[in-house]
Amino acid sequence: MSAVFNFCAGPAMLPAPVMKKAQEELLDWNGQGVSVMEVSHRGAPFIEMAKSSEACLRELMNIPDNYHVLFMHGGGRGQFSAVVNNFLGNNGRALYLVSGQWSKAAAEEAQKLAGEAQIDVLNIVKKDNGLNAVELPVFSGSAEQYRYLHYCPNETVDGIEIFDDIDCPWPVIADMSSNIMSREIDVSRFGLIYAGAQKNIGPSGLAIVIVRKDLLSLPQLTQSSIMDYRLTAENDSMYNTPPTFAWYLAAQVFDWLKSIGGVKAIAAINAEKARRLYACIDDSGFYKNGVVKANRSQMNVTFQLADESLDKAFLQEAEAAGLVALKGHRIVGGMRASIYNAMPLEGIDALVSFMNSFAAKHGR
Ligand SMILES: *Cc1c(COP(=O)(O)O)cnc(C)c1O
Repeated sequence: MSAVFNFCAGPAMLPAPVMKKAQEELLDWNGQGVSVMEVSHRGAPFIEMAKSSEACLRELMNIPDNYHVLFMHGGGRGQFSAVVNNFLGNNGRALYLVSGQWSKAAAEEAQKLAGEAQIDVLNIVKKDNGLNAVELPVFSGSAEQYRYLHYCPNETVDGIEIFDDIDCPWPVIADMSSNIMSREIDVSRFGLIYAGAQKNIGPSGLAIVIVRKDLLSLPQLTQSSIMDYRLTAENDSMYNTPPTFAWYLAAQVFDWLKSIGGVKAIAAINAEKARRLYACIDDSGFYKNGVVKANRSQMNVTFQLADESLDKAFLQEAEAAGLVALKGHRIVGGMRASIYNAMPLEGIDALVSFMNSFAAKHGR
């Protein structure tokens, strides 16, 4: 096997022990002589796996009992629609904060589906000395004004993270696709958290939804049954056939995270990973990052080279050194190192050492 460090933004690398275990069990899961992909989701072994994966996730994130945990289809974007369908109603209003590409896309989808209902959009990124900075407004207003507030605490494309909690009179809905379980959060501050799985949880296609139970009585828009939170909850996420293999792998990732000390332990490692990489950028005089320190993402580190014409050489030489998928998103250009939970500290050290020698070689 070729040894590489994979900095892909998503689908992203998975923990090596998880991949190894999945490989070992691929043809014979749970002593049944068949793969987990080939068994009924209604059979006892799968249901047991599903239950224990939920219990493990609840423990990892300290999810209170008055929240459902749902395993759904359709990834992150599926939830852009599901949130609107489940919570907006025919004449409701919702507030969308925009801090980058993904929150913008969520707001656009909401506007597309809203019909007679109203979507208010608020851009919260300002320039501070030429750098992107998030400025959270003080939210006031009546509890009735909005059905919910939606935002994205980690903008995967832009490399912008919001560490402060949102204080407002409305249920807060957060797209945590790229930073779920990367640091400790207080779930009780949220009405709903969702995440497409392919960054910090497992393979693509699956979405995890954590939703406060009382919110499921809000008036809904007419919608497809598989997007319906109530129906999904009533059927233990098995109204239709769930993405069983993705669920199984997610369960392995939860077990792995628990085995290394849980979210608290990984948060310390993640902070150190980000610290080392941003220090390399800041100290280089060759690389730059365009985000104020308080909003620099710990999961997606974006940077530009002093001379854009070196981008191609950077990517080629990085790849030759076993550091892959560092190209930034086509919308923003430059470079991006996605350093989710599964990326070990050694990957950061290898990248930093490569970046230092590339900068030395290409004249700073
Ligand atoms: C990747 C991502 C999505 C989209 O996920 P899909 O599964 O491709 O729909 C949405 N939001 C954020 C923050 C993401 O990083």
